Amino acid sequence: MKLDNTARFSTICIHAGQEPDPSTGAIVTPIYQTSTYVQDALGQHKGYEYARTQNPTRAALEANVAAIENGVAGFAFASGMAAIGAVMTLLSAGDHVVVTDNTYGGTYRLFEKVLRKYQLDFSYVDTANPDAIAAAIRPTTKLLFLETPTNPTLRLTDIRAACDVAHARNVPVVVDNTFASPFIQRPIDFGADMVLHSTTKFLNGHSDSVGGLVVAVQPDHVEWLRFVQNAEGAILGPMDAWLVLRGTKTLPVRMERHNANGLALAQFLEAHPKVKAVHYPGLPSHPQHALACRQMRGFGGLISFELGSLDHARALLNHTRLIALAESLGGVESLISHPATMTHASVPAATRQALGITDGLVRISVGIEDIDDLRADLARALDAV
Ligand SMILES: *Cc1c(COP(=O)(O)O)cnc(C)c1O
Repeated sequence: MKLDNTARFSTICIHAGQEPDPSTGAIVTPIYQTSTYVQDALGQHKGYEYARTQNPTRAALEANVAAIENGVAGFAFASGMAAIGAVMTLLSAGDHVVVTDNTYGGTYRLFEKVLRKYQLDFSYVDTANPDAIAAAIRPTTKLLFLETPTNPTLRLTDIRAACDVAHARNVPVVVDNTFASPFIQRPIDFGADMVLHSTTKFLNGHSDSVGGLVVAVQPDHVEWLRFVQNAEGAILGPMDAWLVLRGTKTLPVRMERHNANGLALAQFLEAHPKVKAVHYPGLPSHPQHALACRQMRGFGGLISFELGSLDHARALLNHTRLIALAESLGGVESLISHPATMTHASVPAATRQALGITDGLVRISVGIEDIDDLRADLARALDAV
């Protein structure tokens, strides 16, 4: 099953990094649930010594996602946050990072509540504006941290324009690609140096595993991430690596349905009299719709919309039946959530307001159920508003 370099996206998703198991020919990489490996003689082994350092199931996933993101090497971690934490160990005390201002709440919490203790400094800017990135870069800036689309207001950053600004000042760029998935955009193709994922979301896609992954291109990043994955040890276990590998095989077909259902529900919500505004990059009313058409293959499964007040939001959230009230996103089943009190509760209220995360904002992660059932569920719940 050698992939030649003309292989296309769906073929890469299914085959990259996965050889038939050498001992049996099993077509699916087994779950190597082991902590250590027997050595043939002192100093002679098969490349596997201890399972924090090397595990064949994890290695298969890392090679698979590295190929999917068109990078050089991948490193799998116990969660998306652990992956972000590992990337941040590229920095040293006194370094400064420019960050997308509407970044994931857990990322903001890690930066502000943990990494500031280690003398790292962060500026949160509207990275949709390349001039704002340029103005925020200082002599000590060592990383540009982008997230696009953002959670939950689905604002976009032009990845190529942002990379051009950063690279002109020798600042490497990492993109949190969790919300889009590599089916929709591959940041490395636009110039990014690293891509990271919470595999918990679209890559795994089945809401049954927590994990993270970083894909790097530059040799010094690859070398450091390999070192720190083992040195800090926040590795992804073999069972979870296997689950994510199963997920990436169906990524293209799932994403096509997420895209179709997302667009259909966004159009339904925009036409509904009780909905004051809809944030979805696929709608012509989205302020960056043209960029979305240029940068993204489809517009994804995340929608947020404004109902005007907490009472209205509560009424809707308590009346969907099929669409489950839960945090997280990117699974086959549709989820609905209230960012201000759930995912973004740790962001200060004033910052939430500035970012447009109002009390009346509701977010849906649109799954791959039948669109008529999803529409009917929302229509019924909106009647209760
Ligand atoms: C969920 C998420 C994370 C964190 O990932 P975990 O797997 O929950 O640790 C980071 N970034 C984004 C955009 C996310 O959605």
